[in-house]
Amino acid sequence: MKRDYYEILGVSRQATVQEIKKAYRRLALKYHPDRNPGNKEAEELFKEAAEAYEVLRDPEKRRLYDLHGHQGLSGAGFQGFSGADDIFSTFSDLFEDFFGFSTGQGRKRSSMGPERGSDLRYDITIEFLEAAKGSEKEIEIERLETCTQCGGTGASKNSQVITCPSCRGSGHVVRSEGFFQISTACPECRGRGTIVTEPCPGCRGEGRRPEKQKIKVRIPAGVDTGARLRLRNEGEAGKRGGPRGDLYIVIHVESHEFFKRRGNDIFCEIPVSMAQVCLGDTIEVPTIEGSEKLKIPAGTQSGEIFRLKGKGLPDLRGFSPGDQLIKIKVVTPTRLTERQKELLEEFMEIEKGKKEGGFFKKLFQKVEFH
Ligand SMILES: [Zn+2]
Ligand SMILES: [Zn+2]
Repeated sequence: MKRDYYEILGVSRQATVQEIKKAYRRLALKYHPDRNPGNKEAEELFKEAAEAYEVLRDPEKRRLYDLHGHQGLSGAGFQGFSGADDIFSTFSDLFEDFFGFSTGQGRKRSSMGPERGSDLRYDITIEFLEAAKGSEKEIEIERLETCTQCGGTGASKNSQVITCPSCRGSGHVVRSEGFFQISTACPECRGRGTIVTEPCPGCRGEGRRPEKQKIKVRIPAGVDTGARLRLRNEGEAGKRGGPRGDLYIVIHVESHEFFKRRGNDIFCEIPVSMAQVCLGDTIEVPTIEGSEKLKIPAGTQSGEIFRLKGKGLPDLRGFSPGDQLIKIKVVTPTRLTERQKELLEEFMEIEKGKKEGGFFKKLFQKVEFH
C-alpha cells in the first residue's frame, strides 16, 4: 500500500511548489544514504521522498495525482522509480556539492584546523658591487602577524568563542541556487566554524593583523638578477596556530658603468695610449676588490684581452670564482702639443723608410699575381 505523497513530504494539499521543495530537501538530506550507511529504512524513506517530490513538483502529474491518486499516474507515462540506481543518478547532482563527493576535487578541506600563512615576495634592487661582494640589506614589509591583543583567537578578553550558529561549526553553508544547493564558506564565521561573541578590537576578530616589519636580508656574494632567496618563516603568520609562510626575496642587480658580468667573469675595457702599447707599461685595473696592477707588454694590440685569474665573481655554489677579463682599447690622441707632433712626424719618416717588405708591398704583390 503506497503512502500518500503529501503525507510523505509532510505538507498540506495546498502546499506551494516552494514548500514542497523545501520539505523534500529536508527529508532528502536527512535520509540520504551517505548519512545513513547500511540503514535500509532510511534508504526506503529516501526513495519514497524522491518519488513524492518527482510527482508533486510537476503541475501535470500533481493534477493527475490529486484527481485519481496513485492510479492516475500509471497511465500518464509515469513509471515510478524502478530502483535505487535511478534515484541516485537523478539526484546525484543535487548532492554533489553538499556532500562533497564525486566532484573530482576531493573532500573539502576542513576549515577549522591550523592553516599555514601565505608566502610573500619582495623584489629588491641592489648595486653591482653589492651583488659581487655580498651585502646585508634591511627591508620593510607589511605582513599579517598574529594579533598580540588576543593571541590570535580573534576574541576580546571577556568574549567567548562559540560554535557558529549559521553553519553549526562546519565552516560552510548550503546556499540554494534554484533547486540546486551549493556549498560555500559560511559568511558569518568566514569558514572558521566558530564565532566570538565580542571580537578583539585589535584585529576585528580576524586573529591576525597587518604590521610593518623590518627584516635583515643577507645577500650572498655572487648573486645575479633573478636569484631568489628564501627566508623561512618570514612570510605571513599562520591561522589558528598554523606555521608561518616563507618570504622570497627576488634579486635585481643594477648594471655597472665599468664592470659587465658574463657568468662569473667580469669584463671591462681599459683605455691606454699608443705609446703605452708600443713600449709596454704597467697599468692600474679596478677590480671588485680594489685596484690591481696589470703588465702590458710592448706591442700589445688594441682589442687584446688580458685575464686576471680569480678576480671575477665568487661562485654561489662554492666553485672557484670567475676571472676578470680586461680588453685593451688604444685611444688615438686628438689634441697634440707641438713637441708631440714633431716626434710623431719623425716617427712617421722612419716608418716610411722601413716600407720595403711591409704590409703594402705584400698586398700589391698579391694583386699583381691575378
Ligand atoms: Zn586580536
Ligand atoms: Zn559559520
